[in-house]
Amino acid sequence: MKTKGSRKNKVNIVTLGCSKNLVDSEVLLTQLRGNQIDATHESKNDDANIVVINTCGFIDNAKQESIDTILRYVDAKEEGIVEKVYVTGCLSQRYKDDLEKEIPKVDAWFGTRDLSRLLKQLNANYKHELVGERILTNPSHFAYLKISEGCDRPCSFCAIPLMRGKHISRPMEELVLEAKNLAKNGTKELLLIAQDSTYYGLDLYKKRNLAELLKRLSDVEGIEWIRLHYAFPTGFPMDALDAMAERKNICKYLDIPLQHGSTEILQLMRRGTTREKTEALLESIRERIPEIAIRTTLIAGHPGETQKHFEEMMSFVERSRFDRLGVFTYSHEENTHSYSMKDDVPDKVKQERVDRLMELQEGISLELNRAKIGKTYKVLVDRKEEGVFIGRTEYDSPEVDNEVILNSKDYLRLGDFVEAKVTSATEFDLNAEVT
Ligand code: SF4
Repeated sequence: MKTKGSRKNKVNIVTLGCSKNLVDSEVLLTQLRGNQIDATHESKNDDANIVVINTCGFIDNAKQESIDTILRYVDAKEEGIVEKVYVTGCLSQRYKDDLEKEIPKVDAWFGTRDLSRLLKQLNANYKHELVGERILTNPSHFAYLKISEGCDRPCSFCAIPLMRGKHISRPMEELVLEAKNLAKNGTKELLLIAQDSTYYGLDLYKKRNLAELLKRLSDVEGIEWIRLHYAFPTGFPMDALDAMAERKNICKYLDIPLQHGSTEILQLMRRGTTREKTEALLESIRERIPEIAIRTTLIAGHPGETQKHFEEMMSFVERSRFDRLGVFTYSHEENTHSYSMKDDVPDKVKQERVDRLMELQEGISLELNRAKIGKTYKVLVDRKEEGVFIGRTEYDSPEVDNEVILNSKDYLRLGDFVEAKVTSATEFDLNAEVT
């Protein structure tokens, strides 16, 4: 950390964890600037005298990263580089009482629903008139849109409801307003995020209202891609697929974490479904949208998972041929239902199972990518790296999915769409010629 003098009253926001946390940091940034407070996000030159760390408390690695970041800034405070260190987000929500004792040099701790109190601490007031406005911290041509907060699901391994509370849908008017403002500022791709996006509306409108929301957002001028993340399999609203089929600017893409492929483990996980029902759902989704790209995430090593259960998951992945797959090792999280079970799968075995699943997926991904050779796709140009332009098709979400390495005679503008013909493929990337 460079030892530069601090500039008076500048706030540096540091974000850890998921895209939902990033949106919270962007909302904080927008509110601070709306109060004429000098604020920045992830400033590298450390010229801020106040640091707000928006933490993640999901699983072990993420928690450790949050604690390391807090300690780094507490050290910076000792060295006089920063004056105030404030901590917010999931880790703070979950472990505030312990952390206050363990890291007393932090000036104050805030929860995940403490924006007003945090703003007060920073000599700012919450401005309602800024609802629907958001300063983006990633390239402005794509933006995450958080459609709800919290979760009502009982998944046995998950600590998120402990940190984010009960499910609260954001009013549709507010979301449409935010989408319009983002589009006015150049956003072309909206990524819909939540803990459980398919639950949208059940609290506020007493019905699943995701399909209606998708259509309203699809009507927003300038939005060319709408991408659906964090769907939940049980009670999946098929009318959302009708909206997807009907509207060209709703990506034929679905992120639906399924967590496991064995019925016995799905029941231990309290996912409210079975392997058979999951496979039937995947089949009906593909029937409705044949070209859809399906992303999922799985957990290996949940308490009680035997070699037999794991082999069931392997055959589930083999049969389901997901377009995109992420696999995590089970993390034994206090105060979750699974914590009452014995964490009986050794870490080494957990990791071996993750590696075997990813190896299987690499083969599937390579086959699926090779089938794209010779075809032309609409590609969103995301960035330039070592002189090469890199983009994504509608089947790829930023930061987690495949990328398209573009070969172009012309100079391309970031955030533009181009047509590109695939010339070759690897497991996780496509090479394409801009036409
Ligand atoms: S739906 Fe997702 S966030 Fe909600 S409890 Fe289950 S795993 Fe956790």
